[in-house]
Amino acid sequence: MREFELMTIHPQNSITSVDPVKLDRLAEVAIKVGLRLQPGQDLLLTAPVAALPLVRRIAEHAYKAGAGLVTPLLADEEITLTRFRSGPDLSFDRAPVWLYEGMGKAFSANTARLAVVGDNPMLLSGEDPDKVARANKAKSIAYQPALEKIAGFDINWNIIAYPGASWARQVFPDDEESVAIAKLAEAIFAASRVDGDDPISAWAAHNEALHRRTEWLNGERFQALHFSGPGTDLTIGLADGHQWQGGASTAKNGILCNPNIPTEEVFTTPHALRVEGHVVSTKPLSYQGTLIDGIAVRFEAGRIVEAKAARGEEVLNKVLDTDEGARRLGEVALVPHSSPISKSGILYFNTLFDENASCHIALGQCYSKCLVDGDKLTPEQIAAQGGNKSLIHIDWMIGSNTIDIDGVRVDGSRVPVFRQGEWV
Ligand code: ZN
Ligand code: ZN
Repeated sequence: MREFELMTIHPQNSITSVDPVKLDRLAEVAIKVGLRLQPGQDLLLTAPVAALPLVRRIAEHAYKAGAGLVTPLLADEEITLTRFRSGPDLSFDRAPVWLYEGMGKAFSANTARLAVVGDNPMLLSGEDPDKVARANKAKSIAYQPALEKIAGFDINWNIIAYPGASWARQVFPDDEESVAIAKLAEAIFAASRVDGDDPISAWAAHNEALHRRTEWLNGERFQALHFSGPGTDLTIGLADGHQWQGGASTAKNGILCNPNIPTEEVFTTPHALRVEGHVVSTKPLSYQGTLIDGIAVRFEAGRIVEAKAARGEEVLNKVLDTDEGARRLGEVALVPHSSPISKSGILYFNTLFDENASCHIALGQCYSKCLVDGDKLTPEQIAAQGGNKSLIHIDWMIGSNTIDIDGVRVDGSRVPVFRQGEWV
């Protein structure tokens, strides 16, 4: 599962490489499937400036669906870079607290939330890691009033992607910019299931397939999952009263929505104290502008006690030091190796896509909706059941076609769940 940050992007992107029919379908799917926006409901929308063509289509579909008020907030990657290059030192411990408090208030008043991603995932890779970490931490703290309503699933929210030029160049470095944008656009449209004539029906069928998986897992009630493969021997205890989720689900405001487009995962809450063993990443993690690759960590009693990375180790260790919960797991997700995103063979450098290519785990905050009756539990009850709490939630990939997964029942017996990266 992926949440959003405010995004930044190159401003000189053009729509010429992007199929306008599919772009319109993507906007329609965001409103009708991703959010299921209700008549009279307000919408808060964040996007990179390059995504303006999509943002305009979204606004039209939103108002046609009866939106009360659509409020777009656009961000620009050049302004972000200007801060890192010209801002005074004190800038990096600041964040617009007032903005995130306002978002929190809007969500409390049932405003829906849509985030368009399309930024250059490597934007900050050349900047001072200390400044990046401080800026991220200041933002994470300021973002809490908004994040807790998203993580608690108080309202319908959705995140979708637009093929920004700088992102496209990162994914397809050997192509001309217009070709790179066209390729990334087609990949986004296919993964988002808007490449056929009836994307609304395609999403209904996909949601149904994901629900069959979650029903089986919820019936089994495994106490743990055991992952094994090259470099990995990891037992992930599941939270008491955990519940598997996947595809469409109902927010606390009663609206059935699809928070992530695309989505291929089924996921639940691990037990913050019951993770043992070691695990290696199988894809690079693009974290707020830095690439972290070749991650190898060891868990004891749920806590990461040893962390290495072939690349980005300094940033990884800063992330792990964010708070106590940053060293513990808040999510485990199952995705078959044959997922359409995995089959595309593209590394997107973007978690929204890459997490849907592979089984993954997330450091940090858990989702209360991944506990039975989670929306009625107090923070103390969630913690008592093993739900983790942190300022961060960062997904990274541990799946591949060599990973086997067993479900471990309460009596210790084992059920094969995945073999060689596929559902048994
Ligand atoms: Zn996930
Ligand atoms: Zn996640």
